[in-house]
Amino acid sequence: MAVPAAPSRLCGIPECTRPCHDGGTVVHDFCGRTHAEEAVSRGIRPSLRRPHGNCHECKLDGCSLPVYFDSAKKHVHDFCSRSHADKAIADGQWTRSTSAGNTNAGGSTCKLPGCHLGVFIDPATSLESDYCSKSHRAQANTRECLRKGCTSTAWLANIEGPQYCSSRCAIDDGGQKAGSSRSCKLAGCSEVALYHHQTGNALDYCGEDHRVRNEQQTLGTNGDTYVERIFHRGTTGTTDFKLCVLSKAHPHYPSLIDQFVNKWVKPEPVGGISVEKILTVEVPADVRRKTKTYEKTVGNVRRRFHGTSCSTKCNFFVDLRGNPCSDKGCKVCSICTHGFTLQGNVGGTARRTNFGLRYGEGLYFSSVSGKANDYADFSEKTDSNGRRLRCMFVANVAAGKAFKTHETSLQQNECPPAGYDSVVGEVGQGLNYDELVVYKDEAALPTHLIVYSRH
Ligand SMILES: [Zn+2]
Ligand SMILES: [Zn+2]
Ligand SMILES: [Zn+2]
Ligand SMILES: [Zn+2]
Ligand SMILES: [Zn+2]
Ligand SMILES: [Zn+2]
Repeated sequence: MAVPAAPSRLCGIPECTRPCHDGGTVVHDFCGRTHAEEAVSRGIRPSLRRPHGNCHECKLDGCSLPVYFDSAKKHVHDFCSRSHADKAIADGQWTRSTSAGNTNAGGSTCKLPGCHLGVFIDPATSLESDYCSKSHRAQANTRECLRKGCTSTAWLANIEGPQYCSSRCAIDDGGQKAGSSRSCKLAGCSEVALYHHQTGNALDYCGEDHRVRNEQQTLGTNGDTYVERIFHRGTTGTTDFKLCVLSKAHPHYPSLIDQFVNKWVKPEPVGGISVEKILTVEVPADVRRKTKTYEKTVGNVRRRFHGTSCSTKCNFFVDLRGNPCSDKGCKVCSICTHGFTLQGNVGGTARRTNFGLRYGEGLYFSSVSGKANDYADFSEKTDSNGRRLRCMFVANVAAGKAFKTHETSLQQNECPPAGYDSVVGEVGQGLNYDELVVYKDEAALPTHLIVYSRH
């Protein structure tokens, strides 16, 4: 007997007889955005998942990022970014409608301070966004100008409390005197400088945009916003590693510090610990692709810390001047440039630091930064100011099917036991802090390097 087709679910608005929207990779509850929003206003739903578009993947072949959603115009686009829309057109995956013209040559630039890219234009509808990409829109939204109605990015909002985007907005809003005496330091700008909203101190620039522009001119980061310095090899950019030293104004900076500090858990050194620098780590594309595929296969991805050793000759993370070193024995630089490798003798660090390899030859991670610090003994360096610096990685680890144990060690042939992808040492009698061990290179992807000092 033939199985009757499952009736398609109906829109969650009781009076609506249309089927639920069928798009993206998740099940939708309403026929479309209009009814989803109506559901919120009528109290049928407490809220909608934001930002929208998370359920829709970029239409460019091979890209799995969420599509760009323009919240101001309430428009869901088909691609994650302008560059991918352009690429899809160039590859013949998409034909631009004639009304859209060719590009936005001479058109608007992204509204995020310091970004010089053109704004995203949906190739199908030719609707223009305020930003170049979803990620820049998200960065901008974390820190809006204090003046009601202004959606520009405020001055260093993440570290200083609410601020205005520019002296113009501050003056318009009555938050700053019109005849303020200092002027913007950026060459060629004649605007007055912005004053700090809480302390009243004059800042050096008329607004966040000019501050970032000046920083980029001095440091040469050219287009990468809220980044102090970039390290990469070669010129192609696509197959190489890329390390970015984040400025404190980067939207991810505070949450990374929070996680590192709150998850220290162990007793801190007498004088405490402080984060000195945070770098984003982007390993070569082929390594990233392998981990992505593995993540999709086994799932259960967790964010964990990993402490390791650094070659005695290497000073990379201390002075952040030259590129990472090429010493094969330098695990910090090797993970920065190639990702995690079992071959790369990662287990050696555990052996050297006398932790043994409780759960066999694997890659060891912990949710406790203080625990990862135990493995970072051999990364310790003293900088020119006499500070003792160490570093550790933040990584996305695909645990897949995890074998949970309270044993302090496992037999070699149980690492991992058959049918499991990873071993989780749980806190109990034998273990004070959790450990997650994976046994494949592609199970872990480094995302950040945290440089910290112990006092
Ligand atoms: Zn409906
Ligand atoms: Zn994309
Ligand atoms: Zn941008
Ligand atoms: Zn403003
Ligand atoms: Zn200026
Ligand atoms: Zn090194």
